[in-house]
Amino acid sequence: MTEKKTPKKPLIFYAVVAMIILLVFNLLFMPALNRIPEVPYNFFVSSLEQGNVQLVEVQDTQIAFITQDEAGQQGIYVTGNPNDPQLVDRLLDAEVDFGQVIPKEESPLLMFILTWILPIILFVVIGQLMARYMQKKMGGPNSMSFGKSNAKIYVEAQTGKTFADVAGEDEAKEALKEIVDFLHNPSKYESIGATMPKGALLVGPPGTGKTLLAKAVAGEAHVPFFSISGSEFVEMFVGMGAAKVRDLFKQANEKAPCIVFIDEIDTIGKKRDGGGMGGGNDEREQTLNQLLTEMDGFDARKGVVILAATNRPESLDKALLRPGRFDRRIPVELPDLAGREAILKVHAANVKIAPDVDYNAIARATAGASGAELANIVNEAALRAVRLGRQSVTQADLEESVEVIIAGYQRKNAVISPKDKRIIAYHEIGHALVAAKQSNSAPVTKITIIPRTSGALGYTMQVDEGEKVLMSREEAFNKIATLTGGRAAEELIFGNYTSGASNDIEQATKLARAMVTRYGMSSEFDMMALETVTNQYLGGDTSLACSPETAAKIDSEVLGIIKKAHAKAISILKENSGKLDELAQYLYEKETITGDEFMQILNKPKAS
Ligand code: ADP
Ligand code: MG
Ligand code: ZN
Repeated sequence: MTEKKTPKKPLIFYAVVAMIILLVFNLLFMPALNRIPEVPYNFFVSSLEQGNVQLVEVQDTQIAFITQDEAGQQGIYVTGNPNDPQLVDRLLDAEVDFGQVIPKEESPLLMFILTWILPIILFVVIGQLMARYMQKKMGGPNSMSFGKSNAKIYVEAQTGKTFADVAGEDEAKEALKEIVDFLHNPSKYESIGATMPKGALLVGPPGTGKTLLAKAVAGEAHVPFFSISGSEFVEMFVGMGAAKVRDLFKQANEKAPCIVFIDEIDTIGKKRDGGGMGGGNDEREQTLNQLLTEMDGFDARKGVVILAATNRPESLDKALLRPGRFDRRIPVELPDLAGREAILKVHAANVKIAPDVDYNAIARATAGASGAELANIVNEAALRAVRLGRQSVTQADLEESVEVIIAGYQRKNAVISPKDKRIIAYHEIGHALVAAKQSNSAPVTKITIIPRTSGALGYTMQVDEGEKVLMSREEAFNKIATLTGGRAAEELIFGNYTSGASNDIEQATKLARAMVTRYGMSSEFDMMALETVTNQYLGGDTSLACSPETAAKIDSEVLGIIKKAHAKAISILKENSGKLDELAQYLYEKETITGDEFMQILNKPKAS
């Protein structure tokens, strides 16, 4: 499925044409020799003896001859010249004619032209084209006319997609609808003095419909849509990527209002790792710098909106995410149960499908699958129906193709088995319950067991009610207890645990460590600063400043805090094991629940 057109003929095209021309000439004028069948010498001798040979041409290395048998059938052959001493006698005995068998080569002048002049002309022409091509890319002074003629490079007239093509993803659609509305009536926003964010970044795992969403925006907004993939900026020659960016924005400014969509922006927007060796990434850095400059340079009120998509947001350069650039981040997450059902229906609308198909059952079986995978499942089912000679897709086709697709993706662990799903549900409820049962901890607002962009298998979102700048010792400790709650629930219910808590462990350790080394919250060290933050703005790396003995003590303090918090989490969960089961079961079925639903079940008096 390639949607991208190549409006300009690339260099390689001319090279191929030249090759073909050369080849044709070669075939036409190649000495006829090569097309004459070669036969063994004894065939020649026997033909001579039978008197079938009419005409012979003896050359240094070979003998060509024409035969005519009794039936009048003519043949022309060559054979090697073995320097047979009896050859002359044989030829005289057979009384054959001598003459020219192989047609003479073309006139020397023509051959000279073909072998020397033509290639030279071709090389000159290709060289010229190459030079112009480069000039245009560099945006050199002579390139005006050439650049203009290619002005449509990035324009994709009509994507033909609308928001109706995107199922689920309601939050992302909501955010994008505002942008569409802005492009439709900018005056509404201008009169209040509001400016649109210059850029919005679609963030989510592969196949969740980021590219599709961007296309839908273009389809809804009815404005020109400049689409380019980040990898297209990465050029062989330094400076070309930057020139492309400049060119892109120049065109966008001329066509405003319009949308510029940069897909897979991480290919150019990767973190610049300052002071690298040998400057291997010069080209990419230049391109990125140019992009930043252009984004600062243009006026958002003109109506140029920049959308970008990535599935690796953490690798993006911080400068790109700064206010005034891609300051709006639109998460496009994997679909939950309802979302999957909706996506299946959207794609089922394109195929003939039996009316009694149970989409919900298919959606249930595909926890963790992306929109692209679901689209694939429907397509696979349609193929199966065709294979079996049926007129429409049935439930069985869909079920079969779920298995095919899931087997295909199992390697990547994309689809979650019911067993894992159960463990994840208990794990997340473990976090939420421990959080809810402790004072001074932020209320739970959302729990989901749909894998997140960050790589987490589930997620419990807690949002503080007010702005919090200070954290008390108790809050810090409770937070660690909440972080251990996931693993605690696994231990309690399954008597066993999984690797799913790795991120929790990392965070809990970080926090416990900070309590000891930076917040002065341990009895042992009082207010001694043991670690300092070295890089305030870029990630907050810390460096240890103490003796090895102290470092060992720090470790044991940290371990003590975590162990205490873990024990607390276990005891909380033990006390509330009934609710733990009930909530986990509910989450298992719904996949995503709100904080309100959570609190409702939690506060519901016991049934018995
Ligand atoms: P991404 O850019 O996020 O990797 P794409 O936008 O390329 O994913 O999605 C690939 C295909 O998957 C789409 O063309 C569409 O057919 C299907 N798809 C993905 N998400 C959805 C969705 N929410 N609704 C409908 N189809 C979807
Ligand atoms: Mg994409
Ligand atoms: Zn967890």
